[in-house]
Amino acid sequence: MIAIIMYGPPGSGKGTQAKLLADKFGLIHFDTGKYIERVVHNSKNKKNKIIQKQRELFDSGILCDPSWVFKIVSEKTRQLVKIGFGIVFSGSPRTFYETFGIKHETDAKIKKNTKQTRKLTRGLIDILEKYYGKKNVFVFNIDISDKNSIKRNGNRLMCSVCGTQILNKVLKFKSLKVSKCPFCGGKLYRRTLDKPEIIKVRLKEYRERTLPIQKELKKRGYKIIDINGESLPEKVHKKISSYLT
Ligand SMILES: [Zn+2]
Repeated sequence: MIAIIMYGPPGSGKGTQAKLLADKFGLIHFDTGKYIERVVHNSKNKKNKIIQKQRELFDSGILCDPSWVFKIVSEKTRQLVKIGFGIVFSGSPRTFYETFGIKHETDAKIKKNTKQTRKLTRGLIDILEKYYGKKNVFVFNIDISDKNSIKRNGNRLMCSVCGTQILNKVLKFKSLKVSKCPFCGGKLYRRTLDKPEIIKVRLKEYRERTLPIQKELKKRGYKIIDINGESLPEKVHKKISSYLT
């Protein structure tokens, strides 16, 4: 059983790569962004103040409270491990707190419950080490330029039903006018998160709060495998797979 952590800025293709790996190696793809989006945008949670606060953060491109994220991600992870699944994460762990269970200066934005923080000294990486063993935890870092990150995200339409992504570029290139999902007929929309001004916030959050995790992981003996994300998805997938077989 293995666990894979995919790092990369918004638009690096880490979600696509995670899905391909999940299919190839029989893993569960844990897409934290999508999971949180479902929770915070669920109309059943409209009256839940904690969740609504997370929704505000989420929609503005700022990372949700690390302690809240840790809680929902670690619960789900334990469930998946216990029924015997390997997992590929795209979007977790994204903060020091979520990874190591300890506060870090880049996590200054945590509005935390101090008591909870003291009790909680373990992070997602400790959970993965315990269940999978350190040598079976793989960390990849897919990198693309900020320019491409903004370009890729801003050009994307999503199907509200099946989740298919359609690039504006492709529509323009083929001079197609598509208002519905060509796959299932669902309504197409542009995610709030994919607006250029929000992507800039997401990139800043990534650089300031997510990237420093890699340095600490190295200190703990993890190898971070750097992958160039500018090439075609199939090529990136082959490259990543070569480290896993
Ligand atoms: Zn669709």
